[in-house]
Amino acid sequence: MRKKLVAGNWKMNGSLAENAALLAAIKPALAGIEAVVCVPFPYLAQAQASLAGSSIAWGAQNLSEQDKGAFTGEVSAAMLLDFGSKYVIVGHSERRSLYGESDALVASKYMVAQAAGLIPILCVGESLQERESGVTEAVVARQLDAVIDAAGVGSLANAVVAYEPVWAIGTGKTASPEQAQAVHAFIRGKIAALDSGVANHLVIQYGGSVKASNAAELMAQPDIDGGLIGGASLVAEEFVAICRAAAK
Ligand code: PEP
Repeated sequence: MRKKLVAGNWKMNGSLAENAALLAAIKPALAGIEAVVCVPFPYLAQAQASLAGSSIAWGAQNLSEQDKGAFTGEVSAAMLLDFGSKYVIVGHSERRSLYGESDALVASKYMVAQAAGLIPILCVGESLQERESGVTEAVVARQLDAVIDAAGVGSLANAVVAYEPVWAIGTGKTASPEQAQAVHAFIRGKIAALDSGVANHLVIQYGGSVKASNAAELMAQPDIDGGLIGGASLVAEEFVAICRAAAK
């Protein structure tokens, strides 16, 4: 059986005080349940100090595709590792749409993360316009192919894929369990055509307005192996309930 894994994406939210309260609430409540929080860079040290030794791993929401040097404002994979990060989100739709990250750049970041020993959480997903034009699968396939062509299908043995329909992120509009399952099955099938072993073990998270109230139904789908959670990951009871629903 595949494991289920829920990751929180705090986005650009939090403060030392707010994070301390959130971490103190989720840590005991999730004892023994594997989960992840992806925090803003400045709070990696706080996450490390708070979560070390617990079942909750931590990581970042982005990284540079460069190793080091004159790249003002960037943060390298090695720096994330310095603070004990295990995971890093790559290709989140906000990075793609607001910061112009191309499929090729996302693939570079994915490879740099893996080469350093981080587990990339690779985000893919279509916009509302793309869904309405019937090109959801083509878009997701293109985003996956950019990584598979560059890094090989075998690289997905050390990665997580997050299907996040852009129209469902932060909008309160969740994909129905059937809509999400259909795309998850497409993703797994596409990878299975190249390597069935990798496909069977791949954790494919769903992201897009997941809440405690809709988590159980989503997590019950055969190809949904957890979630990437934005807004609800900032509310301890919500995040804990989602992680528990996935762990059932
Ligand atoms: C996300 O940030 O990846 C996300 C899915 O956000 P939300 O859960 O708020 O829709």
